[in-house]
Amino acid sequence: MCRHLAYLGPQATLRSVLTDPPYGLLRQSWAPRRQRHGTVNADGFGVGWYADGDPVPARYRRAVPMWGDASFADLARVTRARALLAAVRSATDGTAQGEAAAAPYAAGPWLFSHNGRLDGWPAATAGLAATLPAADLLALEARTDSALAWALVHRRLRDGESPGDALAGTVGDLDAAGVTGRFNFLLTDGTTIAATAAGDTLCYRSRPGQVVVASEPSDDEPGWRVVPDRTVLTARPGVVDASPLKPGD
Ligand code: GLN
Repeated sequence: MCRHLAYLGPQATLRSVLTDPPYGLLRQSWAPRRQRHGTVNADGFGVGWYADGDPVPARYRRAVPMWGDASFADLARVTRARALLAAVRSATDGTAQGEAAAAPYAAGPWLFSHNGRLDGWPAATAGLAATLPAADLLALEARTDSALAWALVHRRLRDGESPGDALAGTVGDLDAAGVTGRFNFLLTDGTTIAATAAGDTLCYRSRPGQVVVASEPSDDEPGWRVVPDRTVLTARPGVVDASPLKPGD
């Protein structure tokens, strides 16, 4: 399954966060170290980041592996941000291919990624999908299980829930509807990161003025902490809060 990462901290180049670290997302696209499902993450990638003074992030997504995109290497060298979310994709069977299916998905200030799968999608998720307004279903970003998960999360955000509650509530909705699978979600608005560990690996590293939440460590430096399964995490620089996901949350 995919690998993803979100960063909040001092202005940094995309390269210094994603491709320079020895086991960063670039390396994870062909040699992840902790991935529990799948082998390589070569079905596309995406990065979303926030420019100073603009709450709506920019996205760069491609259907090719991260290592195969020379333009990204160039862009990552000169693009700086204080907040970003990125993912490398190993497509779930039966889901759409292409750039539109690559995370991060976005709406307004939000960036979202899903590492995992909704088992039996689309049939097994039809009941849950039917609880969404038709306009949301027609506006799905791609024909993927993850786009449906994002629509469920986004509805809760629109209703005013906090990022952590929206993710935990969506895992609860999936559980309550009897949908099994792996639900590692990652969400940011550029000031807070929320994430769930539900079926795959998750860790974080908090350093003065910065925090990284990622599927797996980007390097072997000290400070990485493993997030236990069935946890919802909320992080800002200097403040990380983890609570257990409740059944029926
Ligand atoms: N289900 C998602 C997709 O197809 C995520 C897959 C993953 O975690 N590898 O893109």
